[in-house]
Amino acid sequence: MLASWQELIFPQRQFCALCQRPVSRRNKIKLCDRCLSQLNFVQEPFCQSCGRPLRLASVDGGKCSLCREHCFHFTQARAVAVYEGFWRECIHMIKYCRRHDLVEPLVGLMAQVLVQCWQGTELLLVPVPAAPARKARRGYNQAELLALELGRQIKLPVENGNLWLKEAKFMQSQLSSQSRAVNVRGAFAVHDPDAFVGKQVLLIDDILTTGWTASECARVLLGCGALRVDVLTLAVGAVQKAQLGLGKTTVRR
Ligand SMILES: [Zn+2]
Ligand SMILES: [Zn+2]
Repeated sequence: MLASWQELIFPQRQFCALCQRPVSRRNKIKLCDRCLSQLNFVQEPFCQSCGRPLRLASVDGGKCSLCREHCFHFTQARAVAVYEGFWRECIHMIKYCRRHDLVEPLVGLMAQVLVQCWQGTELLLVPVPAAPARKARRGYNQAELLALELGRQIKLPVENGNLWLKEAKFMQSQLSSQSRAVNVRGAFAVHDPDAFVGKQVLLIDDILTTGWTASECARVLLGCGALRVDVLTLAVGAVQKAQLGLGKTTVRR
């Protein structure tokens, strides 16, 4: 509302989507330096598998301790920034407060990571599906909004609605990592497997927390004949192994 009034009064100016401070017209992502400086961007060294920041560059294949012990079905996950503080609030605004105006600028940051990591690759974008009841209650699935906007900005095809979540037995966010791994097993299905044959898929979601959900989606899509599945999210949880409560459980292939 504020932004639209400012645009009416100052039609020649552009404003930061988050704080409404004026930004240069050349600022394509419509986010000011002050807001961007509050984000903990994922930078080297990060885990080559799940994309979590590493404290030190690892000598063991560049993987975090989680990925050295547990096999995810996706090849590489990348995120814009760590899920904390201001960035967490931004994502919550899209997820819970219907701030759909933030989708375009936040996806602008995802597009930068995509170009950096997968430039020249023919990707098929696939949003991680939400439980039908949750989507009905919220009115939208934020992963779909992100994937459709990313497809628009980068001009990549989006396979939306093909991969679907059969049921949500439990609220994922309330489960421990071990329970999540078991809970998501067999939760996803596809309507038309042929759409994924020979494709390099990029799964799109808002947050990568434990990684089990994206891994299970990847398992299903690889089973359909996808060549490779990677993941791109707005945020990655910088959770420590101990906090995840991981024991000896591994995801069965
Ligand atoms: Zn700002
Ligand atoms: Zn990792």
